[in-house]
Amino acid sequence: MEKIKCLIVGSGPAGYTAAIYASRAGLNPVLYEGLQPGGQLTTTTKVENFPGYPEGVDANVMMDDIRRQALRFGADIRRGVVTKVDFSRRPFTLTIDGGTTVEADTVIIATGAAAKYLGLESEAKFRGMGVSACATCDGFFYRKKDVAVVGGGDTACEEATYLASLCNKVYMIVRRDVFRASQSMQDRVKNTPNIEVLWNCQTKEVLGDEAGVTGARLVRKTGEEFDIKIDGFFLAIGHHPNSDVFKEWLETNEEGYIVTGPADQSTSVPGVFAAGDVQDPRYRQAIVAAGAGCRAAMDAEKFLKDNA
Ligand code: NDP
Repeated sequence: MEKIKCLIVGSGPAGYTAAIYASRAGLNPVLYEGLQPGGQLTTTTKVENFPGYPEGVDANVMMDDIRRQALRFGADIRRGVVTKVDFSRRPFTLTIDGGTTVEADTVIIATGAAAKYLGLESEAKFRGMGVSACATCDGFFYRKKDVAVVGGGDTACEEATYLASLCNKVYMIVRRDVFRASQSMQDRVKNTPNIEVLWNCQTKEVLGDEAGVTGARLVRKTGEEFDIKIDGFFLAIGHHPNSDVFKEWLETNEEGYIVTGPADQSTSVPGVFAAGDVQDPRYRQAIVAAGAGCRAAMDAEKFLKDNA
């Protein structure tokens, strides 16, 4: 069976950055890219908040840059999805694509999270053309325009207030007659004059043309349908951490995020580390994930030295 010193699972900013650091540290890392090489960022268009790109950068180009940087230092980047793990003893055993089995002395989990979408056909059609699940990433493109945010939790309130600082008008589409968000976040929304909350409303369809989103068709609890005119449609109805294959072995919180140490990226199993959105329900930013990937690789290096 193949023996790997440092196996990295996932190919977003956290995974690739871990691969850069682990290869430079001589750990000969092997990285399995998973279902979506490049991670969540590849579903957006331009990235303008990652340091080092003064003019912004196409998200796919940026992820390819980080990937090539890891390759330059010798990281072994492979296609493949980890479908099963056994963390009961070291070396750990991982099954790839339901077939090949490998052994790893350390594992860095950087499988990210996936934004939840409503599941409408029209929403999928306009993804990246006005439909976004990240206001921090894409809000800037809607300056002085009208947009909508779906959801009534803390994320939705935070994103709506952020968008309100850039946009002309922000609708919040809330399916009940109350927010789920904390009182302080609700107060921020209430005190922002250009946010209009549409209570008891669900989205029936995202409207648009070849240039992108132009509106949304909503339906009230009473059954009444109406349209709003918007250029951007932002989802903020929660995320799923991609932790399912690891959950049986590792401590996770009630939403499935992997719990990591307060001062490092260690998990509840010594030798297994986690970095990026799979352990971070709060920041969900590429730069934060990249930083966590760096930390996880340094933690793995130290672990291997201490346990040589
Ligand atoms: P939440 O699960 O807290 O809220 C999701 C919201 O989306 C709810 O209002 C929910 O409605 C709504 N929703 C879910 N599914 C649908 C659907 N199919 N159609 C319409 N609406 C839907 O997720 P968040 O991402 O807001 O927050 C996740 C965690 O992160 C929370 O613990 C939150 O407190 C925390 N957080 C904290 C922040 C902070 O402190 N600054 C900032 C951001 C997040 P309903 O209420 O009816 O279920």
